[in-house]
Amino acid sequence: MREAKWCNLPARVLRESPPAYLARITSEGRRAPVVRRMKVILAQPRGFCAGVVRAIEIVERALEKYGPPVYVRHEIVHNKHVVENLEAKGARFVEDLSEIPAGAVTVFSAHGVAKSVEDDAAARDLPVLNATCPLVTKVHNQGKRYVAQGRKLILIGHAGHPEVEGTMGQIPSPVILVQNEREVEALDLPSDAPIAYVTQTTLSVDDTKGIIAALERKFSNIVGPEIRDICYATQNRQSAVRELSKVVDLILVVGAANSSNSNRLREIGTEEGVPSYLIADGSELDPAWLKGVETVGITAGASAPEVLIDDVIAALRKLGPTEVSALAGRQEKIEFRLPAELARAS
Ligand code: SF4
Repeated sequence: MREAKWCNLPARVLRESPPAYLARITSEGRRAPVVRRMKVILAQPRGFCAGVVRAIEIVERALEKYGPPVYVRHEIVHNKHVVENLEAKGARFVEDLSEIPAGAVTVFSAHGVAKSVEDDAAARDLPVLNATCPLVTKVHNQGKRYVAQGRKLILIGHAGHPEVEGTMGQIPSPVILVQNEREVEALDLPSDAPIAYVTQTTLSVDDTKGIIAALERKFSNIVGPEIRDICYATQNRQSAVRELSKVVDLILVVGAANSSNSNRLREIGTEEGVPSYLIADGSELDPAWLKGVETVGITAGASAPEVLIDDVIAALRKLGPTEVSALAGRQEKIEFRLPAELARAS
């Protein structure tokens, strides 16, 4: 087993806090080890996308305009830090509309909701602010258009994800969910049936191309969205982590365990042959991962704030001197408009 190159410390020492190993070195009368700088390279782009920024801003502005509490159905975005921050300001997160008192301001999360949830909220006269990402709404609308053309709709996505449940529940006829090529092969539909597909936004072009190719092989009359309809943020973060994997020995993906796009970033790092770990913040960093590592790459899922990346860098700094730089990746300038009633609030 190789020892850590960046600080020349044996693994048992890396597992100790700096004060612990310095104290021990002093007590043993040994000279301090030669400490080399560890390189930390940040992916570009990383972290928050425009849909997440908009969703958080909707809750913050609603709290400002209407005062707490503001009720949010489901985690506004999949990140505990973000949720706790908003809770501290007066947001209340619930899984079901029945938990929301009559008349309380209600926010739908960035993942979108089924039509039945919208109808329930309307039946209860709840004042709703819809934080569904405009790119998710675009998928809903695309799916409705395909169904209106008389096509059977297939959704490529992960079962149980709230965005998938919302999309399936927005389409006014049954939708078939497929998660992989095997499920495509098992579809029991005539090969010339009019078919259309849409995809979960947190899957990229790369994620879906095998499934789409299988669908196109199986069905002769099939249509799907233009490539430009894929979420720009998902694609950009995945391309950035592939670039990152070319120059680092280890990848740390900052994000929540239930964040689909963060998990995918970790998987891509692993596929590219770089040991990759998903961590919520610096407290989950395991010094043992740094054995033999000179350059650490960091990226973050679309729902992870930059402050958590800073926290991971701070955790690395506790283990030795670090030199932080960022890759020269794509700069994103996309912003989504707020709902009219909140855009006017200052
Ligand atoms: S990842 Fe894409 S679809 Fe999801 S919230 Fe962000 S911009 Fe919208």
